[in-house]
Amino acid sequence: MASKQDISAALGAAIGADNVLIDPADCWTYGYDNSRAQALPVAVTLPQDTAAVREVVLACRRFGLPLTVRGRGSGTTGAAVPEEGGVVLSMERMAAILEVNADDRLAVVQPGATNGALQAAAGAGGFFWPPDPGSAEYCTVGGNLACNAAGPRALKYGTPRENTLGLEAVTGEGRIIRSGCRTTKGVVGLDLTRLLIGSEGTLAVITEATLKLSPLPERIATLRAVYTDMRAAAAAVSRIMAQPVVPRVLEFLDGAALALLRDAEPVDLPPGAGALLMIEADGLEAQLPAAIDALQRAAAGDGLLEWRAADSPAEARALWAARKALSPALRRLAPKKINEDVVVPVSRIPELTDGLAQLADRHRVRIVSFGHAGNGNLHVNVLGDESELERMHACVDEVFRLVLALQGTLSGEHGIGRSKRPFVGLEIDPDTLELMWRLKDVFDPDGILNPGKSLPDPA
Ligand SMILES: Cc1cc2nc3c(=O)[nH]c(=O)nc-3n(C[C@H](O)[C@H](O)[C@H](O)COP(=O)(O)OP(=O)(O)OC[C@H]3O[C@@H](n4cnc5c(N)ncnc54)[C@H](O)[C@@H]3O)c2cc1C
Repeated sequence: MASKQDISAALGAAIGADNVLIDPADCWTYGYDNSRAQALPVAVTLPQDTAAVREVVLACRRFGLPLTVRGRGSGTTGAAVPEEGGVVLSMERMAAILEVNADDRLAVVQPGATNGALQAAAGAGGFFWPPDPGSAEYCTVGGNLACNAAGPRALKYGTPRENTLGLEAVTGEGRIIRSGCRTTKGVVGLDLTRLLIGSEGTLAVITEATLKLSPLPERIATLRAVYTDMRAAAAAVSRIMAQPVVPRVLEFLDGAALALLRDAEPVDLPPGAGALLMIEADGLEAQLPAAIDALQRAAAGDGLLEWRAADSPAEARALWAARKALSPALRRLAPKKINEDVVVPVSRIPELTDGLAQLADRHRVRIVSFGHAGNGNLHVNVLGDESELERMHACVDEVFRLVLALQGTLSGEHGIGRSKRPFVGLEIDPDTLELMWRLKDVFDPDGILNPGKSLPDPA
């Protein structure tokens, strides 16, 4: 096994000693993510261009060292947590926005650029990149692509998979590959762009991305619908999704979330409120009244207690206040939280929320759900304290089984990382998993890229 000195000398020779950190005090800060897992890498590399990324990959191959790419470590599943004694490749020195091209509606960026920086650059020209995770100000485009991270706007505009034209990447073998093109149509070769998006740094290091931009809407309308219970709200979600006006955002809070808010914050809700939908419509100013009208008609039905449309930006902020107050309130409620982001077909949301209530009772844990209702994507938060952890994990296991029984999927946007890996075999059959492993071998024959993440072990 190579010594730390050998590794440090080889990495320094490959990309320059100024671009390598080996002091454990420096390395420690690159060893965690928002899952709260942590491990100490032997070295952190800070390449400045694609050629240097390739040199790092080749050096790790030579030493047989695991290599974990890092954006900003905001992921929630441990995907950016390195192997103990492995190498981290941080993208922070490859953060340039290389081009914003309004005529072709695209941007070319290095992967270390933050989502927020990209939105600012695109916004100056009247455009935006649709993926909008809540962490946009500090997470990177590379991290967004590697996790297929989205956010509320995915309902109307899609995820990174629908908003990326092409990629440059370095495989685990050290090959520099290019996928896709600069046009919105293109069918030459296999679609490696979609394969790399969502692969959590296990197939290749993304070194440049050509992204599809959308024009900023002229106006955004903010609307709120409050219902007696989740069944009534879920029926409204189905009605809203069945009519022609696609909302930009369709978020929901369940009864447990509203009860929690009432205890924690002074929120303005009508008596009897048991579920809430936050809706946004966007487009041309002149078209919005008709769109709002269509959404209001679809939202109306059994159990609707209140419909409100914001008249001003201040009122829009007030309408969003309940949704925004939720995360801090959750943090105050319980010291331990397991946050999953399951997805079911929209028509099956009522079965999921009923099932979650039963599981909470059976396992004697508290579950609070909210999320992107229009996509059927629920953030299911299982809450408790240290002494309840075993029951919380048993409950999560059953949540996953329930979701799959409802023809859903284990993760909508947070990805698999380390934490959900043991459950992937519940969703993907052995033959398909076997093919995925063979693809992994082609991209990364020595298995150095982010081992222990995403796919479960072949056995
Ligand atoms: C407060 C908060 C709110 C959030 N809100 C949302 C949300 O609304 N929607 C959502 O989807 N997620 C959300 N997230 C999760 C997280 O921010 C996203 O998954 C984000 O995309 C991670 O970006 P990052 O730069 O921090 O990547 P990291 O956490 O550093 O890495 C994530 C994964 O990407 C890989 N990776 C990073 N860069 C590259 C690259 N260049 N090439 C190959 N692989 C790479 C890493 O190896 C790792 O597997 C939230 C997180 C927080 C803390």
